[in-house]
Amino acid sequence: MKILVTNDDGIQAEWLWALVRELKSVGQVTVAAPDGERSAIGTAVTLFQPLHASEVCAPEDGVKAYAIDGSPSDCVILALGKLITDNIDMVVSGVNCGHNLGEDVYISGTVGAAMQGYFRGLPAVAASAPRNNTVALKVAARAVAALVKRMEANKLGRIFLNVNAPDLPMEKVKGVKITRLALSSHINTVTEDNSKQHQQYRLVRERVEESASEGTDIQAILQGNISITPLYTSLLDKPPLRLLKKVGAEVAAEILK
Ligand code: MN
Repeated sequence: MKILVTNDDGIQAEWLWALVRELKSVGQVTVAAPDGERSAIGTAVTLFQPLHASEVCAPEDGVKAYAIDGSPSDCVILALGKLITDNIDMVVSGVNCGHNLGEDVYISGTVGAAMQGYFRGLPAVAASAPRNNTVALKVAARAVAALVKRMEANKLGRIFLNVNAPDLPMEKVKGVKITRLALSSHINTVTEDNSKQHQQYRLVRERVEESASEGTDIQAILQGNISITPLYTSLLDKPPLRLLKKVGAEVAAEILK
C-alpha cells in the first residue's frame, strides 16, 4: 500500500514523523508537508502565487519527503497531481498537536488536507492528539497504523475518517468508538487591546468540555476512548456504520491488550 502523509504543523514536526514511523510497517510512505506551521487554515489553497517543492532528507529510511511553501491542502494537491508518479492508495494527515473535535474539523488544516485526498477519490484519515502529550501521540500514531491496515483489509474504499486520541497512555485507553461530530467544541470570544497605536483584536477559542452529548467525538474522548468519526460530503457517501464498527473493534483488539 502506498500512503501519502501530510500535516499542518509543518514538515519539521516530531509528531508527523512519529506517525510515519508507525505507518512504515503498513505501507510505503511518501511525505509532502508544509515547510512551516500552517494550522487552522482549513482547506485553504494557494491560487494567486506559485508554489515551490523541495525534496528534503527524511529522518526515516526509505521515505521520500517534500517540503512545500503552501497550505496542507496545497501539499496534497501538488503531491497527488505532480510530485508522486505512483498511484497513492491513501492520504493520512497528522498527527496534529491538539485535538480536532466537533466544529474544529471545519477549521483544521490537518482535516482540510485529508479532505483533499477524499475529494480526489481516495480513502483519507486525519489524526490528532491532545497538545504536547507525547504519550497520547503514540496512541494516535499506533491507532492510525492499525486503522489503515483494517481499512484496506475490510475494503472500506473511499472513506474519510477523523481520529482523535484521549489524554491517556495506551494501557489506560478504554476502547475505540465510532462517533459523530459534536455540535460545538468552543466558545469564540474576541478580546481588545487599546494600548497600541492601532486598536488590536484577538480571536480566542475556549474549549467547552461539557458540550458532549451521547455518541459524539467529544464524549468519547472525555470518557477515555479513541474516537473515529466518519466525515462525508454527500448523504450518498454515508459510510456503512456496521462495517465501521467492525473495523473499530478490530483496531481495539490489535492495540488495546
Ligand atoms: Mn496543527
